[in-house]
Amino acid sequence: MGKVIIFTHPDCLLKDNGSNHPEKKERLGVVLKAIQSIDDIDTEVRLAPLATNEQVSLVHPESHLRDLFSMIPASGLVTVEQEPNADTFLCPNSKEAILRACGAGIAAVQSVMQDGAKRVFCAVRPPGHHAETTRANGFCFVNNVAVAARYLQDKHQVKRIAIIDFDVHHGNGTQEIFYNDSSILYGSIHEHPLFPGTGLSAETGVGNIFNAPIAPGTTGEDFLNIFKSKILDNVDKFQPEVILLSAGFDAHRRDPLANIDLEPKDYFCITKEIVDIANRHSQGRVVSFLEGGYDLVALAESVVEHLRGLK
Ligand SMILES: [Zn+2]
Repeated sequence: MGKVIIFTHPDCLLKDNGSNHPEKKERLGVVLKAIQSIDDIDTEVRLAPLATNEQVSLVHPESHLRDLFSMIPASGLVTVEQEPNADTFLCPNSKEAILRACGAGIAAVQSVMQDGAKRVFCAVRPPGHHAETTRANGFCFVNNVAVAARYLQDKHQVKRIAIIDFDVHHGNGTQEIFYNDSSILYGSIHEHPLFPGTGLSAETGVGNIFNAPIAPGTTGEDFLNIFKSKILDNVDKFQPEVILLSAGFDAHRRDPLANIDLEPKDYFCITKEIVDIANRHSQGRVVSFLEGGYDLVALAESVVEHLRGLK
């Protein structure tokens, strides 16, 4: 039974989106509380460093961060996109939260490449998978999982990386960033139609993108069958050296932003299937990033099942 290392930081709790916004600080609060209360998993919590400009620039041009940070208000909130998508806000604490969330991923992949860690979970916010090369959207500013992947390529010469995204929304940012990179497999299962609208099966990149859109009302058994046949079978063939996860928990039946009917135990099964592939091809190395999940009860219980699958 292995240890799960958790990277997080109190700065990630400060990011404010105003009242009535689903991506609220309490999300991370309940996740950290759930992690503290788990007694059947060996966890070790470590503090996430701030990502450096150089690390972020592995994915995003320097102007992206400069433009975003120049918009940060002294008080209150500013939106980074105009209507009808004006739901991605900067607040006075945004810079630290964004850089800690990204820095967690850097430290996480460092720990698997240099310290022999096998399973790592980045308990962070803001999330990242909607962030495109030069566009913040969908509550995301920097694509945390993409920066970690580029860091693995750049600093550790990793040749094949799989990014598996089981957040209920398609990771348009991750797909855009790696659309022409055959060394990265991106596989996503997501509700369709739903924000952001991308992620059709026909979007295949250079043969490295695998999208599995699923209908509202899909339940756990069907979800797992589609996930295995459309995503995991391809990951297995790809034989990744490291597996990164965009772990959103908004396909839970209670989630207010989507309409998929997963139960908490389904996240255990999803994770276990991924871990089996990692044990076959990736020396067991799985680094998971918290993305969405907007019902506090559902999020806490789903993260616990995810960590049970990872251990
Ligand atoms: Zn989501």
